[in-house]
Amino acid sequence: MSTFCGEEIGKLGFGLMRLPRNEDKTINTDEMSVMVDRFLDAGLKYFDTAYVYEGSEEAAKIALVQRHPRESYFITSKLNANAAKDEADAKNQINVSLERLGAGYIDFYLLHALSEKNVDIYDAYGLWDYMKQLKEEGKIRHIGFSFHGSPELLDRLLKEHPEAEFVQLQINYVDWEDPIVQSRRCYETAVKYNVPVVVMEPVKGGTLAVPPQSVREILEKASDTMSIASWAIRFVASLENVKIVLSGMSNLAQMDDNLSYMKDFQPLNEAEQAVIKEAQEAFAKIPQIPCTACHYCTGGCPMQINIPELFKVMNRYMLFHQEEDAKRRYAGVTAEGGKAGDCIGCLQCEGECPQHIHITEWLGKIAEAFE
Ligand code: SF4
Ligand code: SF4
Repeated sequence: MSTFCGEEIGKLGFGLMRLPRNEDKTINTDEMSVMVDRFLDAGLKYFDTAYVYEGSEEAAKIALVQRHPRESYFITSKLNANAAKDEADAKNQINVSLERLGAGYIDFYLLHALSEKNVDIYDAYGLWDYMKQLKEEGKIRHIGFSFHGSPELLDRLLKEHPEAEFVQLQINYVDWEDPIVQSRRCYETAVKYNVPVVVMEPVKGGTLAVPPQSVREILEKASDTMSIASWAIRFVASLENVKIVLSGMSNLAQMDDNLSYMKDFQPLNEAEQAVIKEAQEAFAKIPQIPCTACHYCTGGCPMQINIPELFKVMNRYMLFHQEEDAKRRYAGVTAEGGKAGDCIGCLQCEGECPQHIHITEWLGKIAEAFE
């Protein structure tokens, strides 16, 4: 059993974001209860929810809190300043979460999804000091934050906030060297400060469970008993400073698969690490738009096209060929206009791009694929 923030907790965390659903889209708390029991029976204890996961905290109350002794599990929730109207509203989220969960206190409480885009709001609302106050009051037991920004910002936050006892990072074997996500550099920054890491999205939102054919062949050749998703989860769990790996399990089959290799976790051996390297190389061979999301191109676009976000959708599509998912993401990014097809070909953007990307050509392909 691994130790995390002084608590004895197994390495797998149950992410309560993609819970099983009934036909009417409500959370199926009967199936969830069976999953919760199986998870606890395996000696695992970490449950991860958030104020903004719709229905999740209430479902945790039914399936977990009301059915098991308080000392048999650890519950996590998160304060999301982006989802608040103002400071008072942000600070009240803990009360709402406590009420929804009915667990008396929250074991691990996080500032949610910090990045360059929102870090100032968390400062302006005084939420770091507020976290310390909550801990002193006994409403929470440990302070952390989840993070989606650059290694430079992470370095600054860890330096300025020694009260952060852990950090939750997006790490998986494909994003390990990705120039935007920069999983490796973020992980190494946490190691530098000796801050334990909780990993979110180890299977990249489920996509690494259904990787491109070239990658699938490598993993299937390496083992005919291990699931494709298990490689992704074991890769992150093998990192020394990773103490918890969250898996957003949606059904019993996923739960059983995860438990089969995480109940008594064994890190990847040398031969298995070589397999992951091969898979990473196969991913690297798949063509991608080399956009670094610097946004130099967007300020002067007369059609307000969010070029890097559209490229992100296209890159993901070229990797995983999940058309429905790509179309949904595209619709989200262009909900307020700025479709690829709106481009008038003024070429302002191409003059700004340090990567010399033929932006208009790619926008044409994106419009053809998703509009
Ligand atoms: S070429 Fe298209 S995308 Fe580029 S600045 Fe002009 S309108 Fe915007
Ligand atoms: S300028 Fe080039 S690299 Fe930067 S965001 Fe635009 S397309 Fe991407």
